[in-house]
Amino acid sequence: MAVPASPSLIEPASLAVLSRRYGAGAPSVVELIRRTGGCTSPIRFEGESVAVSSRTGAVLACRSTQPQAPGFVLVACGNRRESRCPPCSERYRRDAYFLVAAGLSGSEAKGVSADVASHPLVFATFTAPSFGAVHHRLVDAGGVGRCRPHEPAGTCEHGVSLRCPERHASDDLRIGQALCPDCYGYEAAALWNASLGALWRRTITYLPRELAALSGLSVAALRSQVRVAYAKVAEFQARGAVHVHAVIRLDGPHGPATAPACGATAQRLAGAVARTAARVAVTVAGPDGRELVIRWGVHFDVRPIGRKANRGDDDRTAVAGYLAKYATKDAGAGGGLDRRIRVKAVIERAELSDHARALMRSAWTTNPRWAHNLGFRGHFLTKARRYSVTFAALRAVRAQYRAKADPWLAQVRAKAIGDQVVVRRSFNYAGSGLSPAERAVAANVRGSAPAPARPQGNRDSRLAGL
Ligand SMILES: [Zn+2]
Ligand SMILES: [Zn+2]
Ligand SMILES: [Zn+2]
Repeated sequence: MAVPASPSLIEPASLAVLSRRYGAGAPSVVELIRRTGGCTSPIRFEGESVAVSSRTGAVLACRSTQPQAPGFVLVACGNRRESRCPPCSERYRRDAYFLVAAGLSGSEAKGVSADVASHPLVFATFTAPSFGAVHHRLVDAGGVGRCRPHEPAGTCEHGVSLRCPERHASDDLRIGQALCPDCYGYEAAALWNASLGALWRRTITYLPRELAALSGLSVAALRSQVRVAYAKVAEFQARGAVHVHAVIRLDGPHGPATAPACGATAQRLAGAVARTAARVAVTVAGPDGRELVIRWGVHFDVRPIGRKANRGDDDRTAVAGYLAKYATKDAGAGGGLDRRIRVKAVIERAELSDHARALMRSAWTTNPRWAHNLGFRGHFLTKARRYSVTFAALRAVRAQYRAKADPWLAQVRAKAIGDQVVVRRSFNYAGSGLSPAERAVAANVRGSAPAPARPQGNRDSRLAGL
């Protein structure tokens, strides 16, 4: 690695520290950090790439991290969460945007038929039911409304007033908190979050049934003419319950390249989604052995996404941007934590609201693995296989791009005229994270440059550029 680093990224004090540690390799370390986009927690690898002729098996060239300082390469952590690594999260957001947008408008270059743009499409928001009264902030055309001015019950059985006449400011920490924690259904709320995946699967399974009913067809006849594709994201509300925002599309029987038959329209699809949301339920076992029925909340919204020629592009851009933004969030918005809890005592020590702590305790009882997510199992963005491209496909394209831009590989290929070159990589994990001086460089990289022009992917495909 002999690429000189941009001096503006290095403060003299940081460079002095790096020079003491890495000697002549200090500028290379700065360059490696720059290439990760200023990742907050990159992974170090040691190893070698060997270029081989696919025809003869002969070794054409070899490059190793060992002979040159600093003796390792850095690979960005690839964390999706904005709270953990802003540059990696930004790359993930761009991928998520592309993935959602390709399913709305098509992308012939990535193998998604442009015909999908004319298929029936809706944008739907599914909410959780109420688990008890919480403070909230309602904003409409008249400004910020009062929180709970007209509670008929007055006080609950614990003597707590369920009225709140305040107009909460947007940063009021009481928003989302239970008015009476003793009344609030924390166990049911944690179980609801934990069951969201099952409820969603049931929703998608039952949707064709409602669509068939509205179309005057048998379910079998409908399934022979129409397929459902979707992409969805989970969003934490302030009360710690999860919302789902979804794009739902109808394709023909052979997927995105075929048009759906039987008079399928976005309006009919919207009607079927609304009927499904109102009726679908899953039954799970509660902590005390009782059966608990999991349903969507009554607040539900669905609207057709406009066709391209009719302001549809604006709709599609807005929807893709919205879903991509939520794909990089975590349970933090609902008061949860952005990393897994290994010991229950952490719940009592962590900086949490009383409401989130109570919900997390219940989630721990349900399944400790997902307590930090308040029970939710953490699939923030999911999609049907047929919806559009996959994250893996987007990463593979980037890996190819990086290989093309690699001067070492270009040289090897130029020498091996008429011969296919295969690169065999053998890299070992050699640590992760940054020293304080390296962190300062990474912070400068993040502060001085917009996110890299070519986003990066996961660890494996990013190794393709080494
Ligand atoms: Zn990162
Ligand atoms: Zn209130
Ligand atoms: Zn109460």
